[in-house]
Amino acid sequence: MEGFNPELPWVTEAAGEKLEERLAIRPTSETMIGHMYEKWIQSYRDLPVLINQWANVVRWEKRTLPFLRTSEFLWQEGHTAHENEQEAREETMRMLETYRDFVEGYLAIPVITGQKTPSEKFAGAVDTFSIEAMMKDGRAVQAGTSHYLGTNFATAFNIQYLNRENEREFVHTTSWGVSTRLIGSLIMVHGDDRGLALPPKVAPKQVMIIPIGPPKTRDMVIGRSDELFAELKKAGIRVGMDDRADVRPGWKFNEYEMRGVPVRLEIGPRDMENGVCVLVSRISGEKKVVQQDRLVEEVQAMLEQVHQEMFNRAKAFRDEHFYSVDTLDEMKASMEEKRGFTLAGWCGSEACEHQVKEETGATSRNIPFEPEVQKTKCLVCGEPAKHTVVFARAY
Ligand SMILES: [Zn+2]
Repeated sequence: MEGFNPELPWVTEAAGEKLEERLAIRPTSETMIGHMYEKWIQSYRDLPVLINQWANVVRWEKRTLPFLRTSEFLWQEGHTAHENEQEAREETMRMLETYRDFVEGYLAIPVITGQKTPSEKFAGAVDTFSIEAMMKDGRAVQAGTSHYLGTNFATAFNIQYLNRENEREFVHTTSWGVSTRLIGSLIMVHGDDRGLALPPKVAPKQVMIIPIGPPKTRDMVIGRSDELFAELKKAGIRVGMDDRADVRPGWKFNEYEMRGVPVRLEIGPRDMENGVCVLVSRISGEKKVVQQDRLVEEVQAMLEQVHQEMFNRAKAFRDEHFYSVDTLDEMKASMEEKRGFTLAGWCGSEACEHQVKEETGATSRNIPFEPEVQKTKCLVCGEPAKHTVVFARAY
């Protein structure tokens, strides 16, 4: 409770009456889940319990930002209970990997996986792990977290089970979540001066067909466009068509670029004579003339290519804005002159971590599993480093 209190809204009055007991609006659901698990879990045969729910939660933020930090947000939260530490830890890491796979493989956002420092971990967790993404302004977004809660919540809510030796024992629990922040992240990572750029795997429309040419060939071109539309749709590609007669093609091109549609398909009377059409990539602007009878494969290949380019571009940006420092002075200079992430050694003391925050505005993001380099000295006190940590200003 203590860890969450700064962002808890309390209900003290309802239906015109003062409540005898004030109610907190949940910032997360461990307490409710704990209450139910205490009733549901009796024996080792009931384990593991693996539950995922989609829910809105409230955190009373002092400063809100669209998508990234809102007082109420939708998320998914998983809560699991296990017989022992090993199984619970495996689940914790499995979900972290699931999140990494989703954010990198579907949203084309490269992330740094690692463990939170004790001061940044989830209140009530034994260990918290996160994936951290870099936005285009160099700030970090915590894109997902997974927690090993040990027996902390089991003890608080008395979640016990009869083990295989017929003895009562506390379960080991985990929780994990990602939220609508991911939408904010993908807008900020991939957007450019022309507008939104959506990763193909999550784009509501992956391809937009735009028929072109003079009025006299219009019906013929639209007729063929309808056929191509049907073919792509049948192949499972999310396709749209804009055949409005009163809007010029150039205007439509800009419109769908701004909306982030990954691939545009242009077709005109001359293309029809040649049995071809033109695919244009939103992200690189590359134009490719393709045979109509190979359209499905060509579109699939270009969607894959767009995804890869988006990921590579975001990765290259992150690499260019990733610095390694040895002292706090170096870090201050780096933070003032450049935007980005900083890798530094840390002795493990909360005081040193706090000083970094005070003097640079950067917080420890996580202790990466695979740092580029292992640092040997704490950037603040110069003592031997226990960990190599990623620091950044964060949303
Ligand atoms: Zn230190």
